[in-house]
Amino acid sequence: MGSMKKFLLLGLTVSVLISPLSAKKVKWRLAATWPSTLTPLITPPMKVAEMVKEMSKGKFIIKVQGKEKHKAPLGILDMVKGGQYQMGHSSSYYWKGKDINTVWFTSVPFGMTPSEQYAWFYYGNGMKYMKEVYDKFKVLSFPGGNTGNQMGGWFRKEIKSVADLKGLKMRIPGLAGEVMAKLGVNVVNIPAGELYTSLDRGAIDALEWVGPGMDIKMGFHKVAPYYYTGWHEPGSEMQFLINKRAWKKLPDNFKAMLVTAMKAATFDMYIQNFAMSVDAWEKMKKEYPKIKVETFPKPVIEALKKASDEVYAAYAKKNPKFKEIHDDYFSYMKKARAWSQMMQGSYLNLLKK
Ligand code: CA
Repeated sequence: MGSMKKFLLLGLTVSVLISPLSAKKVKWRLAATWPSTLTPLITPPMKVAEMVKEMSKGKFIIKVQGKEKHKAPLGILDMVKGGQYQMGHSSSYYWKGKDINTVWFTSVPFGMTPSEQYAWFYYGNGMKYMKEVYDKFKVLSFPGGNTGNQMGGWFRKEIKSVADLKGLKMRIPGLAGEVMAKLGVNVVNIPAGELYTSLDRGAIDALEWVGPGMDIKMGFHKVAPYYYTGWHEPGSEMQFLINKRAWKKLPDNFKAMLVTAMKAATFDMYIQNFAMSVDAWEKMKKEYPKIKVETFPKPVIEALKKASDEVYAAYAKKNPKFKEIHDDYFSYMKKARAWSQMMQGSYLNLLKK
């Protein structure tokens, strides 16, 4: 054996003996529902990958793949469960068809604001329920960024009464779609890439997407000038998914890095989206004065609230877990709302004319 080779072997043995954990390199793959260019939704997985790489000094690598690569934007849960990907980034309410209780971890009609919901997740029973619901899929789920209160959507015509909703074709996902359907709306589901064309060609009369930060660049305002304020997704949370077998094999220090990075990236997306909407709102007012920002008339809001309560009651009747989470969620909201109104409501109205 040459002296150089001996020296290398010795070096390797010594480093393995000194730090067995840090010597092990872990390579994971993450599949996101979004295209890898869709800011801010893609930001959390990208930031997590950057942060764990840096914290582990290059030993923990997560490769993020957008939907243009895996072509299965709504197959993330299955792919993480099956182990093709160790991680995923998506929205919990997309799995409503597999288990209705997944809707609680995104946002629900007339539900909590982001602050209220984060309080429920981290200091109430939110994380506990999320673990229970996702256990059967053999995955872990964590909050993954928030869009804040979403706008109610773009409409080609003004909505003056509940009657104007009848027969309207609209893209609106989650429980909100079921609520709209109760009021006679013809609810359709269309992939993000086809939204503008569908609205432009009249295949749909209305759609909801997110808020000004993401909506304006889609161009919806060119064909549907009525922009309604929201009721249906008051604090939509994104979601990180982790395959449980992969998680168990992960060294403890990498687990800690990942959990910390996910939480930091979650908060960061919330703020990034807020900042994007701040800029877009200002720009919108100046550059597109024809956009008519409206709030649904009171009778329409009341009808939406009544229909939402009916949807909740129907699920609660057939699904005991739904009832349990529903009751916990809304009793927490009641408590939290009293403080939100006091803390934010009173301040925001202080100098309002
Ligand atoms: Ca939405």
